[in-house]
Amino acid sequence: MGKKLGGGRHELNFADGSTMCTELLVGADGAWSKTRPLVSSARPEYIGTSYIETYLYDVDERHPAAAKTVGGGSLYALVPGKGILVHREPGNILHTYIQLNCTAEWIAGIDFTDANAATARIAAEFDGWAPELTALITDGDTAPVLRAIYALPIEHRWDRVPGVTLLGDAAHLMSPFAREGANLAMFDGAELGKAIAAHPDDVEAALSAYEEALFPRSEAAATVAHQNYKLFCSDDHAPFGLIDILVSKERFSS
Ligand SMILES: Cc1cc2nc3c(=O)[nH]c(=O)nc-3n(C[C@H](O)[C@H](O)[C@H](O)COP(=O)(O)OP(=O)(O)OC[C@H]3O[C@@H](n4cnc5c(N)ncnc54)[C@H](O)[C@@H]3O)c2cc1C
Repeated sequence: MGKKLGGGRHELNFADGSTMCTELLVGADGAWSKTRPLVSSARPEYIGTSYIETYLYDVDERHPAAAKTVGGGSLYALVPGKGILVHREPGNILHTYIQLNCTAEWIAGIDFTDANAATARIAAEFDGWAPELTALITDGDTAPVLRAIYALPIEHRWDRVPGVTLLGDAAHLMSPFAREGANLAMFDGAELGKAIAAHPDDVEAALSAYEEALFPRSEAAATVAHQNYKLFCSDDHAPFGLIDILVSKERFSS
């Protein structure tokens, strides 16, 4: 995507064939950032857990048993290696993450373009569970969406490269168990803006100041995410890790 031109400038090539030259390139392009390789050779790695996302709509009328079971907030039903996590959302919606500890190869073997077959395969992992919980898988009003969870190394950082930096998941992709990814992405953007405003004539000084604070901030959140992941998705201890999280204010920020 970006080619170094020297002097901190980069050439960007777009899908429509157009190109442009940057004086400052900010990679805010998410988990599979095309900008990241300009500063770092790190690649996100699959952490061993996948989510499958489903939605149920008009739940009080159309899915009353599931709606009653979830109640007005969140429900977590966890056993070692798997679970069902549900949020009641505004607009009479149940938003569910089905959590499975599995290999990347196993989950890749499920054809999510065939919604019925994928739903049946995932539901089979919850055979024998209460029907008001399995309904969250089988009665989805949208096709199930796979969210395989990837993360960068907890201590991901890079040496200063003139004219380019990263923010958000591009900089610090982590598992969602600290619930900070979106917050950090917005905070990074604000902090980068402040650093540029504080060094209007020296973009390298701005990027240095921004990254100096970015790296420890990201590492702290990624550490919490990793700790919570181990507690939340344990192959042998669930659901007791979740209880540990809920009673520890430092570990769960929302
Ligand atoms: C299952 C799950 C649950 C989560 N729960 C939470 C939570 O509860 N709280 C929380 O804070 N975070 C949560 N997160 C994390 C959160 O979604 C991310 O951290 C956040 O979206 C990162 O924002 P971002 O802007 O860095 O990246 P993204 O949101 O990925 O945005 C990147 C953008 O760049 C665009 N893009 C990519 N490549 C290119 C390109 N080559 N050219 C042009 N555009 C490009 C993409 O289309 C996209 O619009 C969760 C993540 C997952 C997977």
